[in-house]
Amino acid sequence: ISEYKDGKWSEPIVKPYDKIELQPSISALHYGQSIFEGFKAFRVDENTINIFRPFMNFERFNQSARRLSMPEIPEEIFINGIKDLIKIDNFFVPDLPESSLYIRPLMFATENTLSVRPSKTYKFIVLTCPVGKYYSSPLKMLIETKYARAATGGVGTCKNSGNYAASFLPTVLANQRGFDQVIWTDSEKHEYIEEAGIANLMLIKNGVMIVPESPNILQGITRNSVIEIAKYLNIPIETRIVSVNELMDGIKDQSITEVFATGTAAKIAHIVAIGFNNNFIEIPEVDNKFSNKILKILTSIQQGDQKDIFGWITPM
Ligand code: PMP
Repeated sequence: ISEYKDGKWSEPIVKPYDKIELQPSISALHYGQSIFEGFKAFRVDENTINIFRPFMNFERFNQSARRLSMPEIPEEIFINGIKDLIKIDNFFVPDLPESSLYIRPLMFATENTLSVRPSKTYKFIVLTCPVGKYYSSPLKMLIETKYARAATGGVGTCKNSGNYAASFLPTVLANQRGFDQVIWTDSEKHEYIEEAGIANLMLIKNGVMIVPESPNILQGITRNSVIEIAKYLNIPIETRIVSVNELMDGIKDQSITEVFATGTAAKIAHIVAIGFNNNFIEIPEVDNKFSNKILKILTSIQQGDQKDIFGWITPM
């Protein structure tokens, strides 16, 4: 925990998980100045823990901070705070499949004011929590054509808490119809694919990896890692806008053979069915050969089974 006051961050302290005291007037609760991050550490053996790309999350955290008029956090507080926490948190859970330590940095506005302006004080907290597999892949997704996750010029590229609040209702409605999550589309005409609930999307079309691009998506660190691994495997890549029609037509004519979601929680989660208005199409049983190859490399780098050829691991 570190606190920001008079333009300075306090010396961080580590303490056991406990309640914190806050006043009802803190501005984060009213105006949503609250950002977070999410990434993982993997236990390799008794003596080694691999933190996966923490500097990318650090950069994205400060990018969110700038957009939300919040102070940036210095690298030493972010990175060293995480290392100090990992040192004392023995997170190895032998019976949990795919166990890892989830790391959740959070910053929120703590000034007691109802004034509608950036807060003058903030709290930075990092929580850690052992986790297992989060997703039960494969996924059934609903293309969302009424609600939007983010609008151009807004905060879609940030991990701002309010983005998630806004996504709950459409997701609950999709769940009620038997879908796991929604696929967000652009806020103007709902014509282009953006991303999934807490993951980015990719597809394989005629042997090319297509990465849907948009100015409003969260630029996932897994997405970036998957692109780098695909380059390493000489898989051709196109990063570009992808329309809903292209996705649906490609599945129907079988030029699209794999659709998957990428994220810290999802790693790579395969999508096997997509709903769009009153249509429902299933993606024919395929071997997911491209995504499985990429997933294997990603997992073995994270878990220390393969040399860190990309320089992604901060070992401890
Ligand atoms: N999009 C959204 C909205 C997310 O919340 C996440 C999870 N952080 C992602 C994409 C995937 O990002 P990452 O690969 O960095 O976990």
